[in-house]
Amino acid sequence: MKRIYLDNSATTQLKPEVLDVMIEALKNHNFNAASAHSYGQEGKLDLAKARETIANFVGAEPREIYFTSGGTESDNWAVHIAKKTKKGKHMITTTVEHHAMLHTMEEAQKEGYDVTFLPVDEYGLVTAKQVEEALREDTILISILYGNNEIGTVMPIEEIGAVAKAHNILFHTDAVQAVGNVPLDLSNSTIDMMSFSAHKIYGPKGIGSLFIRKTVRPYAFIHGGAQERGYRGGTDNLPSIMGFAKACELAGENLAGHISRLTTLRDKLIHGILERVPHCKLNGHPTKRLPGNVNISFEFIEGESILLMLDMTGIAASSGSACTSGSLDPSHVLMGIGLSHEIAHGSLRMTLGDFTREEDIDYVLEKLPPIIQRLREMSPLYEEEMRKQNGNV
Ligand SMILES: *Cc1c(COP(=O)(O)O)cnc(C)c1O
Repeated sequence: MKRIYLDNSATTQLKPEVLDVMIEALKNHNFNAASAHSYGQEGKLDLAKARETIANFVGAEPREIYFTSGGTESDNWAVHIAKKTKKGKHMITTTVEHHAMLHTMEEAQKEGYDVTFLPVDEYGLVTAKQVEEALREDTILISILYGNNEIGTVMPIEEIGAVAKAHNILFHTDAVQAVGNVPLDLSNSTIDMMSFSAHKIYGPKGIGSLFIRKTVRPYAFIHGGAQERGYRGGTDNLPSIMGFAKACELAGENLAGHISRLTTLRDKLIHGILERVPHCKLNGHPTKRLPGNVNISFEFIEGESILLMLDMTGIAASSGSACTSGSLDPSHVLMGIGLSHEIAHGSLRMTLGDFTREEDIDYVLEKLPPIIQRLREMSPLYEEEMRKQNGNV
């Protein structure tokens, strides 16, 4: 049976070149970079080389790249740094953050911090003006999601960062979805701290980074050995770090081509669905959007049922967000852009990646419309709507 993976926002699969690097590293480069012997020296070199590759990819200096266990730890760490190094009790973020930031901010509230969760517009955007108006004397951190993992909306990060700069406030962005999917150059940027993660860009899980600009004072979140300039203890996970570096190198080789190819496939899928299926709408911004993100709400039916029926045809998608499935609450992002409960429940996310082919999109466009039709035929809500439309209420 055909299998088509359209859940690249949840995780991507390793590129073969990344796998090769990691297998070789597990065999021959699996030493402790902190050891004094020659193996340790080789490890140190491997580590330095990987750090440099990753730094080059995002336009940072190697010493500004700190390895973590992934995007979640990086988000937690950024908030921790603000708490520990700045005086003040107020932080600003948005209602549509990833749970890694949302729940970290909610935890800060329990500790007595005041957190402003800025509302977004119907596309999922906040403006620099909103951020400026929320500023207080005691604001210590502004943290804004770069590219939304559910609806794909890309925020005006540099405009918001300019506000942060003008007021001398720490500015962090969760760029886990944006890195490798939008052009980004930290050497010419207002970003002070940035979270990113290997497994969203065809690298391994459990490894990521927090970029901390050299002008920002770090503070340890994980206490231990002298790794990461003393700010993040724990033996360096060299095979994963080397795989992360390879993933960054590959992403950097053809970023423009990757973006334009995925954007074309994305728009073909979006328009193909909107043309073929009545009573549905695109969630997120039509153009300020991650190149691989498609998120559509289908009226009268449940995203979960669409998901299950798609799975039977070999298509792997997600209903709203993988993080919220398992709970009956609609996604906070879909509520954040103002969708009603019913419409939010009928939403489907398909996220494309480098392994997605045009024939995969054609296959989805062939399989999805009859699935929607079949589910609607079983839906009492839809039946009622049809009766209304036919005038015999
Ligand atoms: C996946 C994701 C995370 C979490 O990253 P992990 O490496 O899985 O911890 C954080 N933020 C966003 C936007 C993500 O998409």
